Amino acid sequence: MRVLKFGGSSLASAERFLQVAEIIKNKSESSAVAVVVSAPQGVTNHLVAMAENINDDVKLKTDLGHFKTAIQTIIDDLSASVSSFNHQHAEQALANCENQLSRYMHGATMLSFCPEHIRARIISTGERLSVAILESVLAAKDEKVSVLAPEEFLRTNDESLNAVADLVLCKEKFQEQYAQLNKIALMPGFIGVDSKGDVTTLGRNGSDYSAAVLAVCAEAECCEIWTDVDGVFNADPRLIKDAKLLDYLSYQEAMELSYFGASVLHPKTIGPIAQYHIPCLIKNTGNPEAPGTLIANENDQQKKVKAISNLDDLTMVNVSGPGMKGMVGMASRVFATMSRENISLVLISQSSSEYCISFCIYSSDALRAKQSLQQEFELELLNGLLEPLELKTNLSIISLVGDGMHHQQGVAAKFFSSLAQARVNVVAIAQDSSERSISVVIEERKCKDAMKVSHQNFFSHKPTIDVFLVGCGVVGSELIAQISRQQQSLIEQNIDLKVYGLANSKGMVFNAEGIDLANWQDTLGKDATPVTAANIKSFVRENNLINPVLVDSTSNEELAMSYVDFLNEGFHVVTPNKKANTDSWEYYQALREAAQKTNRRFLYETTVGAGLPVIDTLQSLIKAGDQLQRFEGILSGSLSYIFGKLEEGMSISQATAIAKENGFTEPDPRDDLSGMDVARKLLIMARESGMALNISDITIESVLPSDFDASGDVATFMNNLTSIDQAFSDRVNEAKAEGKVLRYIGNIVDGKCQVSIEAVGQDHPLYSIKDGENALAIHSRYYQPLPFVLRGYGAGAAVTAAGVFGDVLRTLAWEQTH
Ligand code: ADP
Ligand code: ASP
Ligand code: MG
Repeated sequence: MRVLKFGGSSLASAERFLQVAEIIKNKSESSAVAVVVSAPQGVTNHLVAMAENINDDVKLKTDLGHFKTAIQTIIDDLSASVSSFNHQHAEQALANCENQLSRYMHGATMLSFCPEHIRARIISTGERLSVAILESVLAAKDEKVSVLAPEEFLRTNDESLNAVADLVLCKEKFQEQYAQLNKIALMPGFIGVDSKGDVTTLGRNGSDYSAAVLAVCAEAECCEIWTDVDGVFNADPRLIKDAKLLDYLSYQEAMELSYFGASVLHPKTIGPIAQYHIPCLIKNTGNPEAPGTLIANENDQQKKVKAISNLDDLTMVNVSGPGMKGMVGMASRVFATMSRENISLVLISQSSSEYCISFCIYSSDALRAKQSLQQEFELELLNGLLEPLELKTNLSIISLVGDGMHHQQGVAAKFFSSLAQARVNVVAIAQDSSERSISVVIEERKCKDAMKVSHQNFFSHKPTIDVFLVGCGVVGSELIAQISRQQQSLIEQNIDLKVYGLANSKGMVFNAEGIDLANWQDTLGKDATPVTAANIKSFVRENNLINPVLVDSTSNEELAMSYVDFLNEGFHVVTPNKKANTDSWEYYQALREAAQKTNRRFLYETTVGAGLPVIDTLQSLIKAGDQLQRFEGILSGSLSYIFGKLEEGMSISQATAIAKENGFTEPDPRDDLSGMDVARKLLIMARESGMALNISDITIESVLPSDFDASGDVATFMNNLTSIDQAFSDRVNEAKAEGKVLRYIGNIVDGKCQVSIEAVGQDHPLYSIKDGENALAIHSRYYQPLPFVLRGYGAGAAVTAAGVFGDVLRTLAWEQTH
């Protein structure tokens, strides 16, 4: 014989009832079946609401109406779709139940109070109706069924609303009562009976437990729990999209998981079947072919960590104070008080200093817990032996579960680093001594983030990079093209990189599924919102993105000045924008402090030398104890190009015009010729080398002479430029006469930074640098007498975007290095 239990989700509609009947029919062909049913989905909630609102006539009527409609709709739909469906039988059952409910309500209203044993009768009405409806459906399919009455055998303690069965007595009574069973027997779940003969209920979702008790009583070969998912997943599939189905769980694993929130199984279910070694199968009513999850005796060592679960709506109670220390019996008084109040403790932790006992309870018990503890410890509280009781609400527990965690190192470390990665503060920790589960108490609002990162690190191994790109200019749009080309290959390497937000000067557009990069231009501007930190942050929070990266591809000052806010909100910041790093020394430091404090990356490799690995190399050298002694470099791709052309005999105005035409200069070439761009890069180099300098400390010789009139629009400026052609060609020729060429060089010598035009000879490392190339010569304690030289294209959309892309990917290193 097999026990089959169908939950509310499997009985939510007429169609579902028919699926259930079909499964029962098929199963009964190979074995006798005892079927336990829940109330149709939602029905118990209406009944509970009725029992809670006996003094509110309006609410009472509304809920009664909802209850009736839910049942009547199923009956009507079945009448319409099943020709020989005996709707009178089902309708009669509904009328009887309604009648009884009215009597209970009437009595309770008179008393202004609904006693618990009456409440138990009210809230278990839905299960009885499920039996009546299913009986009619099966009768229509010519199946004869018998009905099992839990009142006849399912003996429990007196806890009317959360009763526990006495298995031995149940078994005895069952065997007396039902020595012989029909091939198909039906039983309402959720219901028991106490020693006085009053109806009890087994706790919300308790029909699973009914099935387990019945399986023990009937000595079933298997207890099948039929629900709306293919089995037990390694995380709640509602929360984690890529949760994986588990084919096997040991009893202990299932116990831990259900206890810590995997609502697919009621926590009391496993006890009886484990004790009597009955295998349990979790199956999907909507997909009966799927093999389901088997829960049985075999300890499973195959995986270190099997699953992760979350339990919400908890409150933590802290009892602390000098009176706790060394006082024998304090803990027992705390727990005895909770036990007297019938409050179950979900998790307990005590510090070894014995100063504090903390435990988690369901928030619905919090008020009672506080009041009873206040009473119990009235004197201690009055005399300051105990601190005022502290209750922290809105907490969740996240638990890692797996038989294979036993004696494995590194699991806890990985768990905690995942929590840190999700920026979750751990309130308390507990591990059972079997090492089968590790649980942490955290703030409920962070639960989804914590689940997501932990699941990613333990199971899916597919880290995410959640990009918000501001600026779709030359570099920004090239970056989009590069990401778009690489997205698939990154997925193949298990990296899930998506652009969730894209902004240009008109505003930012968001897409919770990730923006389609093939058509990004179409998306831009539609439903755009202002690019504010608040907008981006709230999108990240709403969508539980755990690795957000702000990519600033603008030269915007305001955005640069908000990086600290972004870092503090858990964003990584990647930017080719030099503004932040060249602002005040205080802001420069604040950025680094924020990144360190929040464990986030602030990456700006492309601010100097575009895609060349300048910053990273310099940082590594400095970390390894190197010291910068002298630096010289050609740091501007545009000026490298222009000065190269001068050497070939071109005039400065012509060289600038060609550079501009080829897109080698900023839209306004004055930005390059003023020397400011190079000065900013030089300042970044100096600061990376440990010099606390500001932009005002840098001596800048502009390419444009001081008496040159650089005003007007770009066209005017370009025209006026011819006026310095002669002076420049004289300077070029003078240098040439000495075998030298002119170069625009950034220097750091003796702690002083200078940007100027220099004439250099053939033996100088920067002599041959032209055509847009950059070169940086780092003379350091380690690199001498020959400097460390980096050279290559220092400008251009492709190399710069690739450098930014590289930085974006480096935000993943967090996980690998922790
Ligand atoms: P029923 O109505 O059949 O009793 P429940 O709603 O009580 O169904 O339980 C099934 C639900 O449990 C699933 O729909 C799923 O959303 C939820 N659930 C939570 N954690 C898990 C998990 N680890 N594996 C599978 N389902 C889970
Ligand atoms: N119908 C009851 C409830 O909703 C029992 C169950 O479904 O298991 O709590
Ligand atoms: Mg359930």
